[in-house]
Amino acid sequence: MGEVDHRDLRSDSRNDALQNTREGIGETIICHQNNKGEISHESHCNCKKENEQQSCKVFKQDKATPRCYNLPMIGNISLIVLLGWGIGALINYIADVLPVKRRLTVQFCPVCESRLPLFNYLVWPRKCTQCGTRRSWRSWIVEVTSIALVIWQWIEPSPVLGFPLGVLVLTYFGIVVVIDLEHRIIMHAVSLIGAFLGFGIGLRLHGLVPTLVGGVAGFSLMLLLYYFGSVFARTISRRRGSSSIDEALGFGDVNLSGVIGLLLGWPAILLGLTISILFGGLTAILFLFILTITGRYRLFSAIPYGPSLVTGGIILLYFKDYLLAYLGN
Ligand SMILES: [Zn+2]
Repeated sequence: MGEVDHRDLRSDSRNDALQNTREGIGETIICHQNNKGEISHESHCNCKKENEQQSCKVFKQDKATPRCYNLPMIGNISLIVLLGWGIGALINYIADVLPVKRRLTVQFCPVCESRLPLFNYLVWPRKCTQCGTRRSWRSWIVEVTSIALVIWQWIEPSPVLGFPLGVLVLTYFGIVVVIDLEHRIIMHAVSLIGAFLGFGIGLRLHGLVPTLVGGVAGFSLMLLLYYFGSVFARTISRRRGSSSIDEALGFGDVNLSGVIGLLLGWPAILLGLTISILFGGLTAILFLFILTITGRYRLFSAIPYGPSLVTGGIILLYFKDYLLAYLGN
């Protein structure tokens, strides 16, 4: 992975203009300084052949730090696959252990709770030595999906986050989504780690005030929806004479919305939440349709809302260019 940071460049004075150049793996960055001391940057792709030029992704994270990610050589593909697999294994491990034990312990069998040998658990045969229970097919799906997502980020890094942070945020979202789909819960511990992560990344992307305002807006808007949803659910179930109710939204969704607010900052969180709510509505219709035709529908069947919230964040963090092009901006 080639990454060039223009701040390392040597300077070379020429009359009243200062020009810095350096040939990176896939990019040359030229810094110009005019008579007034204003600095501007230019970046050029170094790739000689046309097909290499197409594979060279040059993008700017912001005006101060132009970066270049060049498609690495064949040898690195195995490293990227290994990274993706490792991330998938980590998401699986956290989703297996944390919701059950409420802390990170050694890997265990979900049926008899006996400890699983590490190689058996991570690689093969993924089967309990005591009772013969196999690990769920989710472990394979998560690992294959993680490898695919890391390869995607390596070929086309997030225009907002870049490759390393892009992979880190996807890992976090992966943990949230897998646990929410399986347990209908967004754990406080996971939200707390997300708050640190979101604050750190938000600070780097937007600065202090927009990050904090984004976080507070995400949290409080979802809190309003949460109260509105629970009042609505209570009213309906009282009218129907039913005593059991599930909350339409869980409080974990409120926390997650705060985390996404920190990541997106103000005012992008407003667009993020709008996308999440639209997507959440579509998911709910699809979900209720499936529950109804399979005969498992009951009033206020709990629908995991975490994946919809994450979708809003992903669209704005990873598909921002496509979204702006679509909106004609
Ligand atoms: Zn077992």
